[in-house]
Amino acid sequence: MKVIVLGAGVIGTASAWYLAEAGHEVVVVERREAPGLETSFANGGHVSVGHAEPWAGPGAPAKILRWLSQDDAPLLFRPRMDPAQWRWGVQFLLECLAWRATANTAQIFAMALYSRQQLQLLRARTGIAYDESTRGILHLYTDPASFASAREGSALFRRLGLAREEKSVEEALALEPALSAARDRLAGAIFVPSDESGDAHRFTAELARLSQEKGVTFLAGREIQGLRATDKGVTAVVVKGPAGEETIAGDAFVVALGSYSPLLTRPLGIDLPVYPAKGYSATVAVADASRAPRVPLTDDEAKIVITRLGDRIRVAGTAELAGYSTELNPVRCEVLVRRMRELLPEAGDWANPAYWTGLRPATPSGVPIIGRTRIPNLWINTGHGTLGWTMACGSGRALADRISGRRPEVVFAFAD
Ligand SMILES: Cc1cc2nc3c(=O)[nH]c(=O)nc-3n(C[C@H](O)[C@H](O)[C@H](O)COP(=O)(O)OP(=O)(O)OC[C@H]3O[C@@H](n4cnc5c(N)ncnc54)[C@H](O)[C@@H]3O)c2cc1C
Repeated sequence: MKVIVLGAGVIGTASAWYLAEAGHEVVVVERREAPGLETSFANGGHVSVGHAEPWAGPGAPAKILRWLSQDDAPLLFRPRMDPAQWRWGVQFLLECLAWRATANTAQIFAMALYSRQQLQLLRARTGIAYDESTRGILHLYTDPASFASAREGSALFRRLGLAREEKSVEEALALEPALSAARDRLAGAIFVPSDESGDAHRFTAELARLSQEKGVTFLAGREIQGLRATDKGVTAVVVKGPAGEETIAGDAFVVALGSYSPLLTRPLGIDLPVYPAKGYSATVAVADASRAPRVPLTDDEAKIVITRLGDRIRVAGTAELAGYSTELNPVRCEVLVRRMRELLPEAGDWANPAYWTGLRPATPSGVPIIGRTRIPNLWINTGHGTLGWTMACGSGRALADRISGRRPEVVFAFAD
C-alpha cells in the first residue's frame, strides 16, 4: 500500500518509520526544509512515563482562574474571539472531573509506557544517537503541599505498574548533587528510575535518515493545501512546492500535522479537538560541568523541565492557550531563566540563552487522537500535547499496525 504521511515532526517521522517496517511504500510531505523543525525542535527532551498526567484534573480550574491575568503563569488561558478555543475550553472543564482525569491518566500512561519500550527497542536495533540519557527523571517540589499531593498521585502510578520513588531532600541531592544550591528551597522529590531523556529534534532527523535508507521518500518544502476526496475516500493531497501546485496520490493518508491537523480535516467535516498550547524553551551552554545536572529534572510547580543534552542544558515549559502565534513573550522567557538561576545558578551560561517557542497539539483530555477517521483511508496521529516525544514511537508503531490490519500490542482507546 502507498501511504502518504502528512507532517514530518517526531510523530509523522515515527509513523513513517514503522509503516516502512511493515512493508508499505511511504511518502512524507512537509512544509519546512527538513524534518522536526516545528514543535519537535527544542522541546524539554523528557521521555517521561512518570509524568503521564493530563493538565485537566480536579485542581486545574481554580489554578487557571487564579493565573488568568498573570503574564508569567505556568498555564495561561488568553480568551480570544475564537470558537475553537472556547469549545476546547469547555471540553477541558469536563475532563477536569476526577473520574475523567483518572481514566485519561491511564490512557496516556499506557501509550507512554509502550512508547518508551518501542524507543528502547529501536535504539538497540539501530544504534540511533540523540544525546540520550537513561538515568531516570527526578521530580522536584519546593512546596510541601504540592509534594504531598504528588505523593498521593504516586498511588495511581503504582497501581498502573510504575515505580515512583519518594526521596527526601538529602536523597534527592545524593542523586543530583548539582541541586545543592537549592537545598533550602526543596521540600522533597519523586524519582522515576526507568524514565529517559534526549534531543527530540536530533532523534527525528536521524530517524528520517534511517527511514530514507529503508526507502521512505521525504518531500520537504511542500505546503499542504488540502485533501482531494470522493465517496470512496481521500485520493490525493494537494501541495504547493518549488514547482508550483502538485497532487500526490496514495492509498492511505496519515494526518500528523501537530497543531495544524484540525485546519486540514475541518473542510472534510472532521472536527479534531486539538488546540495549540504554546510553550517556551531556553537552551544554554554548560558553564561548569561539575555543577550541571546529569539527571533530567522536572519542576512540577513551575511546570518546567530541565535536561542536560550533551554540552547543553535545556529548560522548557509553561503553556499559553492563545492561538497560533509563535512570537516570543519576554516575560515568559525570563520565567524560565529566573527559575534556573534559583535552582542551578552556576550550571549554565544563563546570560546567553537561545529562546524558542513551539505549539503543543493539545487535546482537552491530554489523550492523543490515534486511528482511523470516518473516511476509511484517512488516519490521524496527533494531539500528543505535552508528551509527544514520550509517546512518538508507540503511537507510530500502533498506527502502523492498525493500517496494516494488525492488532496493536498496546491497549489504548483508538479513535475508531
Ligand atoms: C516547550 C515544550 C516542551 C515540551 N517538552 C516535552 C517533553 O519534555 N517531553 C515530551 O514528550 N514532549 C514534550 N513536548 C511536546 C512535544 O514537543 C510535542 O507533543 C511533539 O513535538 C508534537 O509532535 P508532532 O509531530 O505532532 O508536531 P510537530 O513537531 O509540530 O510536527 C508537525 C509537522 O507538520 C508540519 N506541517 C504543519 N502544517 C503543514 C502544512 N500545511 N503543510 C506541510 N507541513 C505542515 C510542520 O512543519 C511540522 O513539521 C514539549 C512541547 C513544548 C512546546
